[in-house]
Amino acid sequence: MPDDNSSNFITDIIDAHNDSARFAGRVHTRFPPEPNGYLHIGHAKSICLNFGIAERYGGLCNLRFDDTNPAKEEQEYIDAITEDLRWLGYQWHDRVYFASDYFDQLYDMAVELIRIGRAYVDELTPEQIREYRGSLTEPGRESPYRNRPVEENLALFEKMRAGGFQEGEAVLRAKIDMSSGNINMRDPVMYRILDTPHPRTGDKWKIYPMYDFAHGQSDSIEAITHSICTLEYEDHRPLYDWYLDNIEIYHPQQIEFARLNLSHTVLSKRKLIRLVEEGYVRGWDDPRMPTIAGLRRRGYTPSAIRRFCEEVGVGKVKGVVALHKLEYHIRQDLNKTALRVMAVINPLKVVIENYPDDQVEQMEAINNPEDESAGTRRVPFSKVLYIERDDFMEDPPRKFFRLAPGREVRLRYAYFITCKDVIKDADGNVVELRCAYDPETRGGAAPDGRRVKATLHWVSAQHAIKAEARLYETLFSEEYPENDRDKDFTDFVNPDSLTVVDPIYVEPHVKSARAGDRFQFERLAYFVVDEESTAEKLVFNRTVTLRDQWRKAQKRAGKPAKRRRRRKAPQG
Ligand code: ATP
Ligand code: MG
Repeated sequence: MPDDNSSNFITDIIDAHNDSARFAGRVHTRFPPEPNGYLHIGHAKSICLNFGIAERYGGLCNLRFDDTNPAKEEQEYIDAITEDLRWLGYQWHDRVYFASDYFDQLYDMAVELIRIGRAYVDELTPEQIREYRGSLTEPGRESPYRNRPVEENLALFEKMRAGGFQEGEAVLRAKIDMSSGNINMRDPVMYRILDTPHPRTGDKWKIYPMYDFAHGQSDSIEAITHSICTLEYEDHRPLYDWYLDNIEIYHPQQIEFARLNLSHTVLSKRKLIRLVEEGYVRGWDDPRMPTIAGLRRRGYTPSAIRRFCEEVGVGKVKGVVALHKLEYHIRQDLNKTALRVMAVINPLKVVIENYPDDQVEQMEAINNPEDESAGTRRVPFSKVLYIERDDFMEDPPRKFFRLAPGREVRLRYAYFITCKDVIKDADGNVVELRCAYDPETRGGAAPDGRRVKATLHWVSAQHAIKAEARLYETLFSEEYPENDRDKDFTDFVNPDSLTVVDPIYVEPHVKSARAGDRFQFERLAYFVVDEESTAEKLVFNRTVTLRDQWRKAQKRAGKPAKRRRRRKAPQG
């Protein structure tokens, strides 16, 4: 059985249903986004789960926009959600629905509950309703309007629908139990008045169903079998069941799992909207955002996101997944697929003194050592090059093996070079290295068998193209930006989350790259071409560094502490 088919508590429930023929062997799930924001990596988990389960059991998964709150919902979000789902690779064919398609049916169901004496129009103010509801320790109190006759309720509900009340003047409530231990069962509101036009139903409605009243009935109308949602809804399940039982319609099974939380970011649409509106990021698709659109622009692949969701799995226990787990999957993916090229982000000029002035050689370079079929390309080599400034030290410490005065290193796919001279500006900054190459080492090996300890990447100064690089760090400098109750999460936005480097120098091979093309800049990181690239200038987003910097930092942080302890021990 492949990994993605491994069992979990949800498949166990479905298997049991299939054994008892509860849904006659049918499996039909749905993914129900509210179009009030862009999808994020947490939604991806729900998407992979719902579509994945349908696939696994040969069932179906609907896309349903849960558009019951016209005050916060927009067409832009519907379009973005659709695009993101397609990009993730899921199919719903013609099964795209809107909760608003069911407004007439939901209205009829509400009328039915009034008729059987299980719903009433309440005219308490919103503050009074809150006050009467009680608390976790105190039972609620019944509204004075609770025992109105059915006929009066029918007339008042009709008046609500017809616009005879202002917002906040009346609501329709289910008549359940004001002393229930579960606050959700204390006569929950079913309909409220909202004098806001709806993107799909226009001015038709002045009243809109609450999520709890709309959701289960929508599931029922669509003949969903398993209505999978996050743990916050566990306490709503009795209400989900109550509505379906009392309206007496087909009854799906609600199942709750723990939502995904990710370190160094936030996954609440309310908070993500603030990041966009208050200008902390450049938009919903900013590559620092944990949105699907942001991850796509960052260079993530659908398969990396899907594998991450599979690895995280489903459970009932709340927790926070470390960001490096997500990064691990994109690294794995890009390692197999991304074309290697050489690029220099922080250039240091190198002049090969003994190389003929006008000579240019085309060096053969491997496109992807993980994929032979990717073939090779030619990289021009000439007298004046750029190497990475970090790859040279004038006075290197013991473990620095790269270039230094008098030292020989390999230039990848080219020659061994030795640093002969260091040129500085008036302030003492190194501005140029004078080197000598050994013509016998073409291709990167010496006929006498001598070895070098480092291989550096480089570009030919006259051939390299200039581009812009956007280097991203985590959006938040804290692992858990929401944990400090005395501070706003925006206080933890990382001021260094974006560094723009312009220009960087890239080998000419990438000249014809297009938005979305992914590369590994050798020895640096994976990059993707951004959509803001123009014919004159490419813009590269750094997707992820080559190695797990985070783990390395953890290790480094751990080491000195241990040594210190050991040194102290004999004294104490
Ligand atoms: P809101 O507070 O606006 O309702 P939401 O995050 O619940 O936000 P929805 O659009 O209602 O957003 O979510 C669609 C589906 O995705 C729901 O079934 C929800 O349970 C699921 N979902 C949302 N966030 C996560 C998450 N972090 N992990 C797993 N599933 C999630
Ligand atoms: Mg929700």
